[in-house]
Amino acid sequence: MNAALSGSMEQMDGTTVTACERCPELCDSRSRIVNGVGPEDADIVFVGEAPGATEDERGEPFVGRSGDVLDEALRDVGLARADVRITNCVRCRPPENRDPTDEELNNCRPYLDRELERIDPQIVVTLGKVPSEHVLGRSVGITSEAGRIEDVRIGGRSHRVLLSVHPAATLYDRSQRDTFEETIATAADLGGSGGSGGQARLGDY
Ligand code: SF4
Repeated sequence: MNAALSGSMEQMDGTTVTACERCPELCDSRSRIVNGVGPEDADIVFVGEAPGATEDERGEPFVGRSGDVLDEALRDVGLARADVRITNCVRCRPPENRDPTDEELNNCRPYLDRELERIDPQIVVTLGKVPSEHVLGRSVGITSEAGRIEDVRIGGRSHRVLLSVHPAATLYDRSQRDTFEETIATAADLGGSGGSGGQARLGDY
């Protein structure tokens, strides 16, 4: 483990980053670090881009309108939000909701890798272009590639990664809704094999 990675891990307790000031601009714009939520043995992990205003205020990823879209799509396939893990590529809100820079993404990457390593889910779902490109390490045309599954080496392990459009895309473009819902259904199928992660489909009961 290199010195920078080792240093950042000292600021992480399990899957929770307790203190970190690696991104000066984000430290100025955040009111708190927004860590992932959900079971630490979840079979499905959703990865978003960065906290927005509501997430920063409430300290939880994917709340507000995007979170409502995600919650509804999960419900439609018999899953509850509490069954899945939801996290972000960067844990601090960028100013003016700009995209995180490459440097900020790279600063926060060890935390995401550690979180995925500990949870070891059946499927990782990237929500939108930025997290898809960050996790896959290549450019992604998210509208055309949504629903694609790739095996990706993350940290020390290979993970199945499912690409998804961002839930907010369905608010501005209704044609994205079917794509999003189909992708969530695929995630439920791939991660819904039961086990301790709590992803038994509600419809099974
Ligand atoms: S975005 Fe990540 S690396 Fe940057 S300050 Fe926040 S927790 Fe640290």
